[in-house]
Amino acid sequence: LSNLDPAWYVPGTYPVAPGVHRIPLPLPGEGLRAVNIYVVEDAEGPILIDAGWSVPEALDALRDGLSAVGINLKDVRRTLITHMHFDHYTLAITLRRLFGTSVEVGLGERRSIELAIGRTPTLAQWLVPWGVTDLSAADLVPYEANDRHEYGRPDRWIEQSEAVRLSGRALDPIPTPGHTQGHLVFADFAAGILFTGDHILPTITPSIGLEPVRHDLCLMDYLNSLDVIARLPDLAVLPAHGLPGGSSQQRVAELKEHHARRLRDTLQCVKPDGSSAFEIAQQLPWTSRQRSFNELDTFNRYLAIGETAAHLNVLELRGELAFTQVDGTRVYERTHMDGKEGPSGAG
Ligand SMILES: [Zn+2]
Repeated sequence: LSNLDPAWYVPGTYPVAPGVHRIPLPLPGEGLRAVNIYVVEDAEGPILIDAGWSVPEALDALRDGLSAVGINLKDVRRTLITHMHFDHYTLAITLRRLFGTSVEVGLGERRSIELAIGRTPTLAQWLVPWGVTDLSAADLVPYEANDRHEYGRPDRWIEQSEAVRLSGRALDPIPTPGHTQGHLVFADFAAGILFTGDHILPTITPSIGLEPVRHDLCLMDYLNSLDVIARLPDLAVLPAHGLPGGSSQQRVAELKEHHARRLRDTLQCVKPDGSSAFEIAQQLPWTSRQRSFNELDTFNRYLAIGETAAHLNVLELRGELAFTQVDGTRVYERTHMDGKEGPSGAG
């Protein structure tokens, strides 16, 4: 891609493969700027991969983007959603309410979607285990599922290894837990393309485990899910955020290297008398711009501490660390304190 190409989030309808178009939809006030929706043309009616956030400007952009390729919004037959995050899922629920469009998402998202429908606050339950002292439950309220987000149960839970057969192509849903537990990517092997949702993004490392039902080994799941993609043929990445077209194999290798480095750095930050996730998050650099923890806003601080906890739990699983609970906070200590550096960080 040349410098003359528009930024990936500039509104429009962009062809990415025969019969497949990308439409970036706005995410007002969000750092990610936009979410890519993919329209797959089909003789039985177009389908969408991901649907966007249910805000009026996104619905307008979707209507405009579809009409640019001669598709009426009400004719969209199905939406296949990669995961339950509101910027991917909630506009599908709106389309169903307006036009009866079918909503389909991975079965692994069921418990988190139930909690989102109930608007059950879940983020604050991690503040004590992570040892967080600078955020309170009240600080997190704006980021919980709330009236901004139109949630509902899907029409169909997509189960593993059940190909989505369209008249002109087959889309294989591949479970890729990590970003969320029920995250799916959709592969069109004949076309050589992979709709990656937020599992593989071209320029940023996806957040891990931010969901109503969080579990401790979300990073282990994510690393295993990168290996799932590594075992596939090389495919063109069609990401939910960022420009499409990169190599799945190359990006998986980069993401694995990022987390290997991050695991080494996290281990190095553990103090001899033990550290909490919060204490270690404050020592690590954040974002591709290497920001300090204190430069992050409330929500990104929460994400950073959660990422740190996820890395600590992988190190614990690998036997590099053990934790004890002190007043409910997990305090991690290295298991061999004989001066060795753990997994070699050299080179
Ligand atoms: Zn997401």
